Order: sequence, then C-alpha cells, then structure tokens
Amino acid sequence: MRACPTCQAVTIGLFRKWLSSPSLPAYCSVCRSYSHAHRTSGGVGVVVAAFVIAASGIAASAWQALLPLLTGVAVAVSFYAWHLHRIELEPLAPAQVSLARKTEAMGGVALLIACLLN
Ligand SMILES: [Zn+2]
Repeated sequence: MRACPTCQAVTIGLFRKWLSSPSLPAYCSVCRSYSHAHRTSGGVGVVVAAFVIAASGIAASAWQALLPLLTGVAVAVSFYAWHLHRIELEPLAPAQVSLARKTEAMGGVALLIACLLN
C-alpha cells in the first residue's frame, strides 16, 4: 500500500498505483482525492527494462547460453519494480480528472471514426 499524496493515509495499493493515469486515477477513500503516478516516469522504467532484456538476449545468443537471458530478465523486472516503487504519486484536482476523461473519450471517438472510415 502507498500513501495518498494529499492526506498521507496509506490507502493506495501498488497495482492501483501502477495503473493510475489522469483519466483513471487512484482514489483515496480517506480524503476522497485523486492522484496518479506520472506516465513519463513509468515509461523510463519500461524503456530501461526493455533495453536490459534485449542486451541480455543478444548476450545469450552470442554465448549460446540461457543464463545471461534469465539474469537480464531478473535484473529488468527488479529494476522496473524498484522504479515503480520510487515514483511518487501526484495529486489531481477533480477538474483535471474530468478533463482527462473527456479528452480520452474524444480520442476514442476519433479513433473509432478513423477505423470506420478506413
Ligand atoms: Zn488521502
């Protein structure tokens, strides 16, 4: 569980933090506020983990051994978990959540129209 950035009550689970976004924020049941882990920060963890897995896959292929790949995957997963743990939750105002939901809904409608017209 993680602490709410507004009231510091420990109410937000790690899975909820991982999936949080401005349109689908984590919700604190104590102070009724919204928060999210910034997507850009999470993206850095994904990129580094993907690079480590790719490099370990190349090493495993070059050495014809599975151990470098397994080690690389373990290091990448550990790094991603540590990075996710390190990212701070940021508070969101209800107006920001509403705007993000409307924006994502309009993006979904635009994508649907683009698919239907294609
Ligand atoms: Zn709170």
